[in-house]
Amino acid sequence: MHIYNTLSRSNELFRCVDGKKVGLYACGPTVYFYAHIGNMRAYITVDTLRRALVHEGYAVRHVMNITDVGHNVGDDDTGEDKIRMEARKEHRGIEEIIRFYTEKFFEEEALLNIQKPEVTCRASEHIGSMLDLIGRLDEKGYIYKAGNGMYFDTSKSKGYGRLAGSSFERMNKDLRAGARVERPEGLRNITDFTVWRFANQEERDMVWNSRFGKGFPGWHIECSAMSMEYLGETIDIHTGGTDHIPIHHTNEMAQSEAATGKRFVRYWVHSAFMTVDGRKMSKSLRNIHTVEGLVKMGYLPLAFRYMCLTVHYRNMMNFTFEGLERAQKSLKALYAFVSRISAIDGGGHPDTELVGKAEKLRGEFFESVGDDLDIPAAITKMHGLVNLAGRAKLSGAEAKRMLAIMLDFDSVLGLGFDLHMSSALPGEAKKLIWQREDARGRKDFKTSDEIRSRLRKDFKITLEDTEEGTVWYMSVD
Ligand code: AMP
Ligand code: ZN
Repeated sequence: MHIYNTLSRSNELFRCVDGKKVGLYACGPTVYFYAHIGNMRAYITVDTLRRALVHEGYAVRHVMNITDVGHNVGDDDTGEDKIRMEARKEHRGIEEIIRFYTEKFFEEEALLNIQKPEVTCRASEHIGSMLDLIGRLDEKGYIYKAGNGMYFDTSKSKGYGRLAGSSFERMNKDLRAGARVERPEGLRNITDFTVWRFANQEERDMVWNSRFGKGFPGWHIECSAMSMEYLGETIDIHTGGTDHIPIHHTNEMAQSEAATGKRFVRYWVHSAFMTVDGRKMSKSLRNIHTVEGLVKMGYLPLAFRYMCLTVHYRNMMNFTFEGLERAQKSLKALYAFVSRISAIDGGGHPDTELVGKAEKLRGEFFESVGDDLDIPAAITKMHGLVNLAGRAKLSGAEAKRMLAIMLDFDSVLGLGFDLHMSSALPGEAKKLIWQREDARGRKDFKTSDEIRSRLRKDFKITLEDTEEGTVWYMSVD
């Protein structure tokens, strides 16, 4: 498998240190508000990467943090802690805010069929590791006290800024030209960042004693400390959105490598941003959508996943409702195909030419997956298979082969094809669907509608008649 490494700015052949075991660290959400669909695009990318690695035979140890302290309004340490601010605004306790939005986040992930990481770690529960790491930096002379905290001296970091394709000098020059509003007393370089922030009088929750003073960790040190705790000092893959490259990941890398003297990350994988109707998604523009919101509007959450998969993860993606409609239509056609071929009984000898063509498409699909996760190209191959099978009258044996290939595709796509196989239907529901087909054939639309309502009420199954045939899916509400 080849993957684009932000550090080398090239597609690299993926190899991991420990044979077939991959350590994958994904920067997780800051749980101060609902995750929007742009955030979820980033996690769909990670999930797809994880699935692709598993398909290649790797055992993946996926670690994701939950940032519940230390992430300020500005990524560069400026402003207030996002969670503290939200708690004040909503008149709720900090812990309540954290629990509420963490739960919401995992609900959204489940709707999108995103697999749970092996380890989910809360920053506030790893303060000891962070202080140890800060201690190591202190011993080596990398940190100093200034204004409101302990700062990392970026001038001492070897190759600072190279992840962003820049340098210490250039970044400081650029930032000097721009305006950094808050500049703490005694700050040595504009790019220096806090590893430990001192608490002020009002900050009583989420503060810890340390030999540097009472306070809380900086956002970047959290990811360095937790990734090292769970994956060791050099990790295989580190992911996040492209916004993390110049500050968060640049700083994680600088302090980790300063502390250990080793390479921190072997492959940096960044997923591009999503806009809504061509505009940046932000609360002030009121163009934030959540997956839950899309579901309330009647969309299948996996239609959103499918929509994301049709754009390469390194390309900007623009969300529109027309695009989502189109994605949903295509996804339903895929479901209809899966349910149709899974209902074909019987055996027989498969047509070797047909099966040969299908297997060729399978090979091409996974070649695209292995080419820097080119899922849009892989999806085109999948549609090729649907067209191929659609043109033939499949025997039982052929249908089984096609279905196996579709399920193999879905192990990477995560679109829930298995839930649309006829075997996934409860026997009673299956009977009702047949009876409805019968009623429709007799043009007895009253009975047909009654059966449809019953399926919805008793089994939470929604039926829809499409050009490709009747498609059914489990309702999510
Ligand atoms: P946050 O909770 O702000 O730390 O962000 C969680 C993840 O979502 C990070 O990996 C961000 O890079 C990513 N992200 C934030 N906004 C967007 C967006 N509009 N499109 C794609 N990814 C985003
Ligand atoms: Zn992070």
